[in-house]
Amino acid sequence: MAKKLNGTVIVTYRCNARCSMCNRYKCPSKPEEEISLETIKKLPEMYFTNITGGEPFIRTDLKDIVSEIYKKSERIVISTNGFFTERIVDLAKEFPQIGIRISIEGLEQTNNEIRGLQNGYQRGYSALKKLREMGMKDVGFGMTVQDRNAPDLVPLYKISDEMGMEFATASLHNSFYFVEAKNIIYDRPMVAKNFENLVNELLKSKSPKKWFRAYFNHGLVNYIYGQKRLLPCDMSFDTFFIDPYGDVMPCNGTKDKEVMGNLNRQTWDKLWNSLEAEEVRKKVRHCDHDCWMIGSVSPAMHKYIWKPATWVAAHKLKSIFGGKYSMYENKICRDYRDGKVSKEELDKCSTCDMCAVVNNGLSEASKAQLAGKAGKEIG
Ligand code: SF4
Ligand code: SF4
Repeated sequence: MAKKLNGTVIVTYRCNARCSMCNRYKCPSKPEEEISLETIKKLPEMYFTNITGGEPFIRTDLKDIVSEIYKKSERIVISTNGFFTERIVDLAKEFPQIGIRISIEGLEQTNNEIRGLQNGYQRGYSALKKLREMGMKDVGFGMTVQDRNAPDLVPLYKISDEMGMEFATASLHNSFYFVEAKNIIYDRPMVAKNFENLVNELLKSKSPKKWFRAYFNHGLVNYIYGQKRLLPCDMSFDTFFIDPYGDVMPCNGTKDKEVMGNLNRQTWDKLWNSLEAEEVRKKVRHCDHDCWMIGSVSPAMHKYIWKPATWVAAHKLKSIFGGKYSMYENKICRDYRDGKVSKEELDKCSTCDMCAVVNNGLSEASKAQLAGKAGKEIG
């Protein structure tokens, strides 16, 4: 039986938003170079596929892409900033089983400031409501937490909970994918405290899925203090990303783009079993980025289930007896509070590098279109 993989398809690097933590909108791909249906047909069997961008709904042939991917993937989730409401609703009508995650970066004012889209919150929120009214089950919010929006974390979770929706979180991050190296969390204890509150909200619920989400958010506290990942990273072994140019990569978290092969030019089997792919796997084994993003953590949580399961059992039991999760269960949080570690030392553990030149991962042709222009002038 063919091995089933977890894949992420980046269908475009174009984006209509102007997010403060991501410069992707300044570095768009050339539309005529973006991954074609021919290349998508060459993808392997997958148990899960995330379709993302840039902003994936910028592509007007997204329906064809989804229909092609459904031939090889059991489940599809599209990540979007939610601006193109009609296109989202239209696609959902045709594929009611699809998952949609709309990233909302906080309550209305915070979201619109971070996202740089007028009415961004209202548009995202009304798209979610509409999808819910249509009876779609797999819909939810996604939020990238930073100093500016951390206080909105629990209020936004409560809104999603009232609407009966999924609530996915991430922390600010640096990588070629975001074309950014300067993202850093300044007030770690404040941000971690908000995660602690979220973890306790999730543990209170009756849903086992939410208890595991609590573990994921506990891992984010660990991440923002720059510590080793709680679980191994197996990206490129059973998980892959493919970019708009057909380049297959282990993940979107590396500083520079790592390429295992190109699906426009190779067959999947040749690419996946190539020497280049093996070289990338060796690098992954020694990667010190230690990121904690759902794309790499979710497969690891399934694979090493005993570790999150033990944590969940202990903390759920504690919450039943009136106890609470504390961020100070993490040694590093105690060490920082007690002055045993300085802010400068923690800052050095982060992926923030003020002097880094960011590799934007674009093809030569896409770079050429940027000559003398910013991405927003290209559109
Ligand atoms: S974070 Fe997403 S929505 Fe925001 S600019 Fe980057 S790609 Fe666009
Ligand atoms: S830790 Fe894993 S997901 Fe993160 S950059 Fe390294 S290889 Fe990629």
